[in-house]
Order: sequence, then C-alpha cells, then structure tokens
Amino acid sequence: MTQTRSNIGQIKELRHKLTVVERRLEKLFGAPEKPRPSSPLESMVHTILSQNTNDTNSGRAFRSLRKSFPRWEMLLDAPADKIARAIRVGGLANQKSRNIKDFLKWVKHTYGRLNLDAMHRMSPAEAIETFTTLKGIGLKTVYVTLLFACGADVFPVDTHIYRILKRLGIAPEKASRDKVTEMMQPLVPRGKSLSLHINLIELGRRICTARQPRCYECPLTDVCLYPEKNLGPAGKVC
Ligand code: SF4
Repeated sequence: MTQTRSNIGQIKELRHKLTVVERRLEKLFGAPEKPRPSSPLESMVHTILSQNTNDTNSGRAFRSLRKSFPRWEMLLDAPADKIARAIRVGGLANQKSRNIKDFLKWVKHTYGRLNLDAMHRMSPAEAIETFTTLKGIGLKTVYVTLLFACGADVFPVDTHIYRILKRLGIAPEKASRDKVTEMMQPLVPRGKSLSLHINLIELGRRICTARQPRCYECPLTDVCLYPEKNLGPAGKVC
C-alpha cells in the first residue's frame, strides 16, 4: 500500500514537473502549429532516413531519393546499391536502403498497394504492434509518424529529448530510449505532446546541448537536477 502511494506521488510530481517544463518552453519558443495530416508512408520513409543523422542531411537524402525514384513503386525493383547511392548523404546508406525497400515490399504485400493511410485510423498501440516488428522500424519512427502525419497525441523521444529528460531528473539515468518513450506517454500533459516534443528539441539544439549546456540561458535551472550545470562565470541565481 505504502509503495503504491509513493508511486502515485512520484507520478504526480513528474506530471507537475512536465507541466512546468512545457509552459516555460512555450513561453520561450512559442506554441508550435499543429501540422496538417500527411502521408504516413512518406513520414515512415523520411524517419528511417533520419536515423543517426541530422535533419539537414536526412532532408537532403529524402529529396534525393524522391528525385531518383519519383514513384514509390520504382523502389520495389530497384537494386539496393542504386537506392543507397541516392541516399548516401544521410549516412548508413546500405542499411537504410535495404530497410526502406523491405518496408515498402511489406506495405505492398500487406495492404495491396503502396499506401499507408490505414495508419490514420490506428490507435497508437495498434500502430506500434504492427510496425515495430519490421526491421529498421523502431518506436521513434512509429511515434514520429503518429504525431506528425496522423496528428496523434503521442510523444516521440529523440536524442536531444532523451538527454534533457535525464538531466532534468524526469527519466532514470540508466533507462533505454525506448523505455523512456514508454514511460513518458502517460506523463505528458494531454494535448501537449507536439509542443513539448518540438520545444525540447529546440532547447536541446540551442541551450541544453550535449556538451557545455548554456544553463545560464535556460528557463529550467530551478527544476533541473543535472549536477554539472554550466551557470556561466558569475553563476546564475536560480
Ligand atoms: S539547466 Fe542546464 S542541464 Fe538543465 S535543462 Fe537547462 S540547460 Fe539543460
């Protein structure tokens, strides 16, 4: 009983902390506009290309892929090395080209055509169960597609968010990224997944960088548990 009470207390505390984080980041960076529903197939391929690289290079790889193969069908019979050449700029080209081709073949086989609009009607649990068994499709790929292409209120955890949540003391230091993703879903304030996702990434790029975070510019210093805060030469008063 005591254990249950303390768990409930901890969950309440984390929810409250996330609400504070979300509000302060919206104040700093603004509230992002909800994206229009778009093609889940396109989003899944784009997100596969974004693995282990930055947005600029994954964007370039995606554009180059579409330029070389303007119709998805063309990828089904294309040699893997030709696909790899088209996406080289995004890194891990051989692995990603195989994963994309296998994924498209699976979509065609499962849905009878290269269209994944069925995903708009899936619950997050159903989408996760359906797609994460496929090679090269992880939890992040599915969550990103659900959030941005399908408008679902789910919270993907990218590398910036993973780092910041640990520094803030919201995610356990040793938990894997997938574990943190699962843990976060019931904690994020309802309707705020998009805002928190986009603004935490912005914080990670501009302020809470992997090396030498600019804690002296951060609006979260008083709620952050990171022991090596960089408060600048004079130190910031929290
Ligand atoms: S106080 Fe520093 S470590 Fe903590 S979230 Fe802000 S920038 Fe990151």
